[in-house]
Amino acid sequence: NSDLILHVNLELVNLERKRRYTVKDILGQGTFGQVAKCWDLETNCYVAVKIIKNQPAYYRQAVVEVSILHMLNQKFDPDDKHHIVRILDYFVFQRHLCVSFEMLGSNLYELIKMNHFKGFSLSIVQMFSKQILHALIVMKDAGLIHCDMKPENILISTRRGSNCNSSAEIVKPTEIKVIDFGSACMEGRTVYSYIQSRYYRSPEVVLGYPYTSSIDMWSLGCIVAELFLGLPLFPGASEYDLLKRMIQILGGQPPDNLLRDSKNTIKFFKHVGSIYRLENDEMSKELTSAYRVLTEDEYEARESKRPSIGKNYFNHVKLEDIIANYPYRKNLPEEEISKDNHVAESLTRLALVDFLRGLVEFDP
Ligand code: ADP
Ligand code: MG
Repeated sequence: NSDLILHVNLELVNLERKRRYTVKDILGQGTFGQVAKCWDLETNCYVAVKIIKNQPAYYRQAVVEVSILHMLNQKFDPDDKHHIVRILDYFVFQRHLCVSFEMLGSNLYELIKMNHFKGFSLSIVQMFSKQILHALIVMKDAGLIHCDMKPENILISTRRGSNCNSSAEIVKPTEIKVIDFGSACMEGRTVYSYIQSRYYRSPEVVLGYPYTSSIDMWSLGCIVAELFLGLPLFPGASEYDLLKRMIQILGGQPPDNLLRDSKNTIKFFKHVGSIYRLENDEMSKELTSAYRVLTEDEYEARESKRPSIGKNYFNHVKLEDIIANYPYRKNLPEEEISKDNHVAESLTRLALVDFLRGLVEFDP
């Protein structure tokens, strides 16, 4: 992305500016460095400053993030209407590249957690989904792939309200913003193959098939389902496990032509005759066809087999019980991990069917 890097000429960074920011707290830590909550003495507002490790790889990645966000903010979202974090400034401090962003609040994973993994109502899910879609439309227009869409990278916006001294505005706690363009790339320049966080990783990335901005849409689908379910849709413990879960829930494996043309297929599938079968997996014997929409007859047939536990069971109170028994994250407290994941998983699938039905019925 060398021409992107040209947009950021660090020579132009004002190094003379001193003591503009006072560090108040640490907001996040990652391999790249740290994010600090800082008080901006010039504007009298809190800002989030990402302090990048003094290492070439992280530096280059951060420079790409700065260029991409500049482009998105200025060219594609000048009025700040499309739910993408605002970049405010960047500078070098003691050989560290620092990037300041508008100060935002909790991320959606924290929000799901605060809600005791109960899942949100359809109207809340739709409100969030709509905003994330707005952000994805802007990225698509810009020819950009985010490559790391997940609840942790979507933050509640506090909108000037509580961040500045001059706060008279009503705080809108339900506005969200997409952050973390540190893995983003331009469409047509998809150089990296190890991208996206596993639960939200698309089949083409797992399989090593050429990818497009559709991979962000896949992640969005996973996020939307998780907002409703309160737990991840495909909590794959490994890439193999992830594929298996996708195939189970979607009721079919990826199409043969996709498998044939993907460079990682042999990691997961055996080629038996002319058929691809998932390695070590009984289930795949029954699976032949691709991801596809069921015909009306097939849909009817499947629905008639649906256990009577069905719809009424999945009000949010009951879903809470299911979720409490589901090992959705590795670090879940032991007492919350059920011995019978199988039941929880099939119940999740049923909840999902209800969710999708509700989504279709609900016209935003
Ligand atoms: P990484 O590449 O490590 O994921 P992120 O840009 O996602 O870096 O930042 C890491 C964490 O820092 C986020 O998950 C969030 O908790 C916090 N953070 C980042 N940007 C902001 C912001 N603008 N306001 C508040 N917190 C932020
Ligand atoms: Mg992140």
